Amino acid sequence: MPDSNTVREITAILKSLYPNAQTELEYRTPFQLLVATILSAQCTDQRVNMITRRLFQDHPSVEDIAQLSLGELEEYIRSAGLWQTKARSIKKTCQILIERHNGEVPKTREELMRLPGVGRKTANVVLANAFNLPAFAVDTHVHRVANRLGLASSKRPEQTEQQLMEAFPEHLWKDAHHWLIRHGRRVCHARKPQCERCALAHLCPSAPKPRSDQESRCKQEDNQDPYR
Ligand code: SF4
Repeated sequence: MPDSNTVREITAILKSLYPNAQTELEYRTPFQLLVATILSAQCTDQRVNMITRRLFQDHPSVEDIAQLSLGELEEYIRSAGLWQTKARSIKKTCQILIERHNGEVPKTREELMRLPGVGRKTANVVLANAFNLPAFAVDTHVHRVANRLGLASSKRPEQTEQQLMEAFPEHLWKDAHHWLIRHGRRVCHARKPQCERCALAHLCPSAPKPRSDQESRCKQEDNQDPYR
């Protein structure tokens, strides 16, 4: 793990790169954020916003969506990946919210994760963004960038979440989540990270080493090669 000075430097750079980091999903209520986040699995935020603008304009509340038939809800969300599964999850979630939570979105991870279509990441997104509660949501971008930067060292998102909560002070968890997502989308791409234009390259253990370093390491290795 990087030392606290390095984390502070990474924090300052990310903050300056992404000063207005917040979710790109559009919502007005915790319920709408919950639905948008369920829809966002394997789907871009832009696509989700296109869907929810229409859905929430016609049916803004949990009661409104609960009254839709499954077929009617499917029509709204048909352009999202996995739309049939998501429609069933959203419909069932609405019923549970009305029957067990007075139509409100619960504020604990345990209760959220009992809702269909809601995993740990979705629960954390809702807790942090809708309720401003301390939670560090780890999606594919956060997981990848954190591990490349050495802020975490894990193959499991849940462990990455734990390590990020230790690396960053609690008041930065929400922002750091958004910074790492933005950085993953814009610079540290999954297949071709753009290290040559990355402002964090000098702090990143995954960045390619300068050529001269590589050459001198090769020379050292040559000298040590017993089969030479
Ligand atoms: S230097 Fe490369 S691997 Fe490291 S964070 Fe930047 S883009 Fe990602």
